[in-house]
Amino acid sequence: MTVTPVESQAMARARALGESVLGTTSPNPAVGAVILDADGTPVGEGATAPPGGPHAEVAALAQAGEGARGGSAVVTLEPCAHTGRTGPCADALIAAGVARVVVAVPEPSELAGGGAERLRAAGIDVELGVQRAEAEAGALAAWLTGVRKHRPFVVWKVAATLDGRVAAADGSSRWITGELARAAVHRLRATCDAVVVGSGTALTDDPQLTVRDTDGRIFGRQPLRVVVDRRGRLPATARVLDDAAPTHVSRASGPRELLAELFDRDVRRVLVEGGPTLAAAFLRNGLVDEAVVHLAPTLLGAGPSLVGDLGISTITDALSLAVVDVTRLGGDVQLRLRPTRHTGGRESADGGS
Ligand code: ZN
Repeated sequence: MTVTPVESQAMARARALGESVLGTTSPNPAVGAVILDADGTPVGEGATAPPGGPHAEVAALAQAGEGARGGSAVVTLEPCAHTGRTGPCADALIAAGVARVVVAVPEPSELAGGGAERLRAAGIDVELGVQRAEAEAGALAAWLTGVRKHRPFVVWKVAATLDGRVAAADGSSRWITGELARAAVHRLRATCDAVVVGSGTALTDDPQLTVRDTDGRIFGRQPLRVVVDRRGRLPATARVLDDAAPTHVSRASGPRELLAELFDRDVRRVLVEGGPTLAAAFLRNGLVDEAVVHLAPTLLGAGPSLVGDLGISTITDALSLAVVDVTRLGGDVQLRLRPTRHTGGRESADGGS
């Protein structure tokens, strides 16, 4: 694969552009694009607009204008060749006169595929698979999960004490973590299409589940608030039912049914916020794609654990997660993790007693 350092840099920028619109594009993919002129100078960039708006390539071409002629388009996903709500991006790239298109992820669906073929037929040099793994794990992960598994990508978020308690023995659970960690939760919610809690959490904590900035101002675009309330326990006075954001009260009997409901509502990235019973149900079914754990350096010694019963009785059956990154948030620590598989047979650290 031949990619210039400038193109490689442009792809990193395109991935960041895609990530900047995560949570605003569903059911469409969060794509980023950078246009380089014939000399390799960036002359335009763009990201997917909310549904019905222009795709990343079209936005970047608009900014580049004549600068695109003879230049390159660097895009995180193969340009579309189908006519949906907007015209095909492949045709827009051909019309703009680009000489080369560099793509991270080939289009995985039949419906939109064929962009590279159409570009090549027009004499454009196309390079596929550049920084593919990074792009697939980044802003495109949610949309790709939808294409491949027909369900939303699930992020499980939990805040706990060092000994893994999410509440004290008396049930009080407010402010386990500090201000920076709580602000991070709001930013995380903003990247999701829906935020889910069980009715237990809705009853005990009465969360509003909105996205606010650090000054407490409510964001313009809010994720769908979802309460799993199979037995109809949620009171009409619950804060999650106020008019600050749309709310869906689900009677789904399990996570799979819930995810199917949400998928039908164009949700592609879901934040599961609690509590332990709901989290355990998702984990037991292998339905957590990423975990964000906020640990406060405090101890409670008693109180509910961050996850309920996983049906695991022996160490070799432990559910394993790989640490993606560790960040300090003021006095707290954020761990981002991806579940690997059940380890089955891995030796314990002390030699397996
Ligand atoms: Zn397109």
